[in-house]
Amino acid sequence: MGVQRETTPVRVVYVTGSGRSGTTVLNMVLGQLPGVFAAGELRYVWQRGLAQNQACGCGLPFGDCPVWTDVMERLGAPDPAIGRRLLTRLRLLRLPLLLARRSAGLPPVPAHPDDVAIGDLYAAIAQATGCRTIVDTSKLPPYGLLLEQLPGLEVRVLHVVRDPRATAYSWLRPKATRDAADTPVMSRQELWKSSLLWLVWNVLAAALWRAPRRGLRMHYEDFAQRPQDTLAQVARFIGADAGALPFTGPATVRLRPTHSAAGNPDRQQRGEVRLRPDNEWVESMPVWQKAAVSALTVPGLALFGYTLWPRALSRRRAASGGGS
Ligand SMILES: [Zn+2]
Repeated sequence: MGVQRETTPVRVVYVTGSGRSGTTVLNMVLGQLPGVFAAGELRYVWQRGLAQNQACGCGLPFGDCPVWTDVMERLGAPDPAIGRRLLTRLRLLRLPLLLARRSAGLPPVPAHPDDVAIGDLYAAIAQATGCRTIVDTSKLPPYGLLLEQLPGLEVRVLHVVRDPRATAYSWLRPKATRDAADTPVMSRQELWKSSLLWLVWNVLAAALWRAPRRGLRMHYEDFAQRPQDTLAQVARFIGADAGALPFTGPATVRLRPTHSAAGNPDRQQRGEVRLRPDNEWVESMPVWQKAAVSALTVPGLALFGYTLWPRALSRRRAASGGGS
């Protein structure tokens, strides 16, 4: 065993944006396509998978999953502390470093000792699964920047944007993880924090990977309302066969288990799954909360075509830029 770098680069579909934007189900659907491996939030694989043995998308503990066992064997004995170091390296304050490297047009070369193992992870997944395309829903733009600078990877960026009132509402709602190796409920974020992070990450992603040349932008609302058209466009963008999408009805997909390494507990869903807009927030979110999020995200609302006062999902103006 071991990781041998091949001459053909591994294609990484990097899903960026802010949290709670519907990327869990997107990851599972794309993972049904031939040659595509749905890896989930790979930046967490070291900490949540390797160190804490949290559940894989297939339902087994990470250390019992045959796919991840194979991947980790190929990597030798990777250091789980890569995860902790990665969290520090991806902090907002370190962003200028990554941006400077990018704008200097430096050739892809590992800039940190951990980068060899991080690059090897993608090569090992490709070899263990036979898939040439890996979907990584880590979302954080700095990690996407880092992946772009690693040798042997061909990164295509899919920017998913969702109404910030919806994501803020989702961040406030307690959600059980159903995983004994994890905390009982998923992490939550205060309104002001999720709003500001939504603004920072989405504006940064839009600036870094300008659609349509450098990336594809997808709105959650389009995905939820017109899943077939939206997913076909995404499949074409990642170089996969759109005809192989697992639709069994206009908004119904049949899902086989995926081996996503970390993320929302919904990633263990399987069988017939109905894709429908999660718009509970439109009715249930208090007016003051909607107003506060709107005020904190004004520049982003304008940039991404959301109305200042949300009335329904369909209120997004058709004139929003990007590739959706
Ligand atoms: Zn698994």
